[in-house]
Amino acid sequence: MKDCIFCKIVAGEIPSTPLYADDELYAFNDINPKAPTHVLVIPTEHVDGVAALDERPELLGRLMSRAVKLARELGLEEAGYRLVINQGEDGGQSVGHVHVHLLGGRPLNWPPG
Ligand code: 5GP
Ligand code: ZN
Repeated sequence: MKDCIFCKIVAGEIPSTPLYADDELYAFNDINPKAPTHVLVIPTEHVDGVAALDERPELLGRLMSRAVKLARELGLEEAGYRLVINQGEDGGQSVGHVHVHLLGGRPLNWPPG
């Protein structure tokens, strides 16, 4: 989608550090990490947010599954980690292309602000 920064990242128009890529999914380091590990997992196709995935459980499932696999590959499983999807304004979503945050590498506060 035009003017979507994550679509531009998928297209390589904005540089990113890739951690995983296939036809359907892309994972890269967050530019402003909130924890020692802060990875974003996104679908390569533009989807506004998780609210648009309610009728697409296969894609939603593969998005979450990939985040879990990456957490394992990055060595976070034993200490633990957090997966977050922000939806809409009150949810704190600042980029309108659905993404799963994978956060780990330090104890994370709960509840988040
Ligand atoms: P949200 O607030 O929408 O849940 O999360 C958006 C995330 O995207 C933020 O953590 C922010 O740091 C990250 N982000 C925004 N622009 C860029 C960018 O150009 N490159 C990368 N790698 N991350 C970005
Ligand atoms: Zn997009």
